[in-house]
Amino acid sequence: MLKLLRDWVGYSFGMLLAVALLGCGPAGDDGKSAKQAAPHDHEGHDHEGHDHDQAQPADFPAGVAAVRQHYEAIRDAFRANEVDKAHGPLHTVGQRIEALPKLAATAELGEQELATVKAASAAMFEAYGEIDDALHTGKQADYAAAADTLDKGMADLQSVVDGMAKKTEE
Ligand SMILES: [Zn+2]
Repeated sequence: MLKLLRDWVGYSFGMLLAVALLGCGPAGDDGKSAKQAAPHDHEGHDHEGHDHDQAQPADFPAGVAAVRQHYEAIRDAFRANEVDKAHGPLHTVGQRIEALPKLAATAELGEQELATVKAASAAMFEAYGEIDDALHTGKQADYAAAADTLDKGMADLQSVVDGMAKKTEE
């Protein structure tokens, strides 16, 4: 399992269905069967906070909002030194980030915006993957080292959403 997790961090973004194997239900899970999914292979981590029962975001702004929700939960948990509380959202945020490029493709974004979404998603995914990897290998998870990447990624995603809102207003 540890090997798989390490490999997971290194995978290119397009292959990251593996995140579903990491701690959550089967890929493409619609949330109904997740409660009966295979038991988690985690050692001593608290896995409350998974949100399998939430519906998949319907569009790109909803997808970014879903990522933000977990981004804040993870950030706040680390700020409060409650690392276990960050672990559930860490798994879910991977799935949410993974869904973004697909959602972005349906959002009539320009090439530049799409590139921004892809870059921000990949950077955030990798940063979260490293934190999760640290939790699984018993290392000190270094949120501070990832914070700049995550803050920038979140801001970039938000700027694309804000740009969409502007277009609609025009
Ligand atoms: Zn984990």
